[in-house]
Amino acid sequence: MTMVYTLRQMDQSTRETIENDHTKLAPLIFSYFVPGEGPISHEEFHFALRILIGESQKLHPPSEDIRRELRLYEDTDGLLRCEGRFPESDENKEKYFPLYLPKEAAFTSLMLRHMHITHHHCGPTTLMAVYRQRLWTPQLRRLIRHIILKDPATKCIECARFHAKPCLEAQEPALMPERLDTGTPFSFIGIDFFGPFRVHTPGSTELRKVYGVIFTCLTVRAIHLEIVTDATTAKFLLAFKRFVSRRGTPRLILSDNAKQFKLSHEYIQYCSYKFFRDKEIEDYLT
Ligand SMILES: [Zn+2]
Repeated sequence: MTMVYTLRQMDQSTRETIENDHTKLAPLIFSYFVPGEGPISHEEFHFALRILIGESQKLHPPSEDIRRELRLYEDTDGLLRCEGRFPESDENKEKYFPLYLPKEAAFTSLMLRHMHITHHHCGPTTLMAVYRQRLWTPQLRRLIRHIILKDPATKCIECARFHAKPCLEAQEPALMPERLDTGTPFSFIGIDFFGPFRVHTPGSTELRKVYGVIFTCLTVRAIHLEIVTDATTAKFLLAFKRFVSRRGTPRLILSDNAKQFKLSHEYIQYCSYKFFRDKEIEDYLT
């Protein structure tokens, strides 16, 4: 359609240039295209199509092998057609003497995409049948697969979405031994913060922020919740102390790399080091 509007608006000098160095179709441009806006006629559309096919053939001329194999010949418009075994007539010319369209031409890719979309996103076999009603391109199936299904620049996004396979789920690794321990609950725990939440405090209309600390038992999946007024290390240690008072000291704690947990780990290690190095405690124990 763009080609039709371009040809309609072409000025005299451009048309003369085309007439001098283009196909036999060029002199006919005057009779087919009259400057104006109106709807595109059937003749205009098919004439523009023939010009584009002629340009593609000129840009990518067929090799001698292809000429011989497809028995290419020039028709009355100067376009290359494949010769068939039927006698040529106006009725069967398009069907039995298809126009040759080189596989390298950008126009071939556009034609395939256009036909694929106008024929309800048909598969390669149907598209080949539709395409070969009027056109012929060597190695068409491979070309269709490349243009419609593979090439990221030209492939049909709708078809890619429709035929997309679900991604494979990752294989789950074996459970760690702590997850299978049958000892006391909360011997092996995971910890994390969640929140913040805004809550009312007694005697005040203001809302204040609170966070939650969740302790989960890795074995039986039981949970223990503590509320803290901020997400600092000091408040976490207090929450952890309350947890230990209620559930006992865990043997293993898993957490993410949040700063509060890392600092708490260092602090607890430091305290236990100080505890066992304390002179009075050492004397008492000995
Ligand atoms: Zn499609």
